[in-house]
Amino acid sequence: MAEAPRPLGESVRCRIAPAPTGYLHVGNARAALYNWLFARHSGGTFVLRIEDTDRVRSTDEAIGIVMGSLRWLGLDWDEGPEVGGPYGPYRQTERLHRYTEVTDRFLAGGSAYACYCTPGELEERRRLARARGEPPGYDGRCRNLSEAERAAFEAEGRQRAVRFAMPEEDVTVHDLIRGEAHFRANDLRDFVILRSDGTPTYLLAAAVDDVQMHMTHVIRGEDLLPSTPRQLKIIEALGAEPPAYAHLPLVVGADRQPLSKRHGSVAVEWFKERGFLPEALVNYLALLGWSYDETTTFFSRDELVDRFDLSRVSHNPAAFDMQKLEWMNGHYIREATDTRLTEVVTEALRGGALVPDPSVVAAAIPLVRERMSTIEEGGRLLRFLFTDDVVPDEKAANAISKAGVGFLREAASRLEAVEDWTAEEIKRVLILFQEDSHMSRRDAFAPIRAAVTGSTVSPPLYESIELLGRDRTLARLRSTGA
Ligand code: GLU
Repeated sequence: MAEAPRPLGESVRCRIAPAPTGYLHVGNARAALYNWLFARHSGGTFVLRIEDTDRVRSTDEAIGIVMGSLRWLGLDWDEGPEVGGPYGPYRQTERLHRYTEVTDRFLAGGSAYACYCTPGELEERRRLARARGEPPGYDGRCRNLSEAERAAFEAEGRQRAVRFAMPEEDVTVHDLIRGEAHFRANDLRDFVILRSDGTPTYLLAAAVDDVQMHMTHVIRGEDLLPSTPRQLKIIEALGAEPPAYAHLPLVVGADRQPLSKRHGSVAVEWFKERGFLPEALVNYLALLGWSYDETTTFFSRDELVDRFDLSRVSHNPAAFDMQKLEWMNGHYIREATDTRLTEVVTEALRGGALVPDPSVVAAAIPLVRERMSTIEEGGRLLRFLFTDDVVPDEKAANAISKAGVGFLREAASRLEAVEDWTAEEIKRVLILFQEDSHMSRRDAFAPIRAAVTGSTVSPPLYESIELLGRDRTLARLRSTGA
């Protein structure tokens, strides 16, 4: 089967190829976003391919998580699992025969050879190479075995892997973002394409798929740049036209090291659970390595599609800045409609095992909109409305003990007399009470807030009390400290 050369002038086809590890790393989410934007901008096709050859980790559940996160970010794929397409299947475990077919072809044509070296032997030779100050890559031991040597290894019952025979020449990668990257032949040693258990390595599977799925562009993280000269040679051996490559700058933490779990939260699912809005994360990720101009920070999805361009992707590592993301999320929260916020905050409260009344959430949204930088924070601020299990936190407990239980009882009696239970009336009565107590407003209201909401930080007090209702407010004031 010869690979057909790519027709000239065909439209863009690009892909994201996650290995389902149980979560979607923000670096992969950014790569997905850039591919999606690139495809949408050019009217091309965005493909999702699942690199699930690591069978232990690649459960259906893990694949479901990746797809759920891409959908949550609004990155819909035109071809891939669940939607199908002309070049499927789109899960590598369903394509295994294609990799063995290519491997057999390479073996027959001399582009690959059987390698009988054991892991122990390889390790020992790497150690010796390092000791001699030589690069530790594969030394080509099995590349030119005689028939007799091969037969002897087979007779010994040795496991056999298949290695790609790299042409012994330097390779230049033309990268759309980084320009030319040169690789010396000595650093491009023969590498395994099929393991002894018959499974393909990433280097082979991704290259074969990119050809068979007619990719025109491979846009991926810079950590994969060392794979590119090897994959180019595989594609050459297939007799196919390579895609164009664009390697995105690394996403790093504040310490300039590649962003990893060590830095805290790196999973898209974490941001979702913490109440970040997908539009905020999309906007943030778009700017993690790309800019439109020096000044524009906020982009709607349509604006991103309209303006995204690989030529404005930076070469420099992009530092993940949680504070900026939170700030951006706050902006999108303030922009969101009441209906949307009611929906997501209700959802967040449900996630906290509460049973919120959406009409109460809706009434409370204007009180918290300006005070929350994540939806989770909104949920936290409103929790006291949906549970009577309100235990004052440390600061709240201090404020209560400073004012004393008698003070709270008195506040309850005053509020009991309020006829019309509105924020206005509650305010009038509480201010009168504060003046009668000869206390500052802050000293008087802190313990009341603490008893009613369990915290010294809450939505505005009078409105909070109005929403909580008379009976529950009085009960809290009377039972606190009792
Ligand atoms: N499976 C690789 C990863 O998750 C992607 C490889 C590629 O884009 O070629 O990093």
